[in-house]
Amino acid sequence: MDKNFRELLKKEYVVFDGAMGTMLQAAGMKMGETPEVLSITQPQLLVGIHEKYLRAGADVIYANTFGANRYKLEECGKHLIKVDRYFASSKICSVCGHKKKELALSDRMYVCECGNRMDRYVNAAVNIREEGKRIYKECA
Ligand SMILES: [Zn+2]
Repeated sequence: MDKNFRELLKKEYVVFDGAMGTMLQAAGMKMGETPEVLSITQPQLLVGIHEKYLRAGADVIYANTFGANRYKLEECGKHLIKVDRYFASSKICSVCGHKKKELALSDRMYVCECGNRMDRYVNAAVNIREEGKRIYKECA
């Protein structure tokens, strides 16, 4: 979706996604699993659910980060690592490390000279995961 949010609000109604937990359980998430951890361990699962919401007519989809706070993650033995908000996760190729100078919001696929071609958000998610690992190793 490349709509300007202010323009979107001019619509009679705006449809948001919902019930991420229900969708994750239907996809096999076990009781007690932390949904936010699946964003890291199974990003394609989340992308698939988001695509279903978009196909169903959702105007807005949320990131699966609602409960990703330090306290909740520590309960399941995980650590919250903050990646700099200006980290160029979308512009960096998650395969070769090349950084694009420009990437339009309308570019849905990340395409690199190295042959990497993947959903831009999956590419960004991989980069964020790897940056988190790098930060974690620095702190350990
Ligand atoms: Zn590349």
